[in-house]
Amino acid sequence: MEIKKCVRCGQFFETVNDVCNNCLAKDNKDIGKLKDYFSYGYVAGKVSLGDISSNTGITIKNLNRLIENSEFEGVYVPETLSQNNNIDNKKVVAKV
Ligand SMILES: [Zn+2]
Repeated sequence: MEIKKCVRCGQFFETVNDVCNNCLAKDNKDIGKLKDYFSYGYVAGKVSLGDISSNTGITIKNLNRLIENSEFEGVYVPETLSQNNNIDNKKVVAKV
């Protein structure tokens, strides 16, 4: 065990994880939300981190970190969508 600074709340704690026990529970809850999001209505390259953040209530900072989780291997979410992608978006995906 080593002393680490929680990447989510900034508290110092003793663990093998990157977040403290309080935040581990929050992370797991957010991962659940993300899994739901990705299994329902997610089209690769058509949503930005901002879209996911406003849909799930998870902050961009936490999204960037959680998306690195092995659960989401192969998932790529751009920070913002380019203008061209937005045009494609209207053509291909109906707004929910
Ligand atoms: Zn914490």
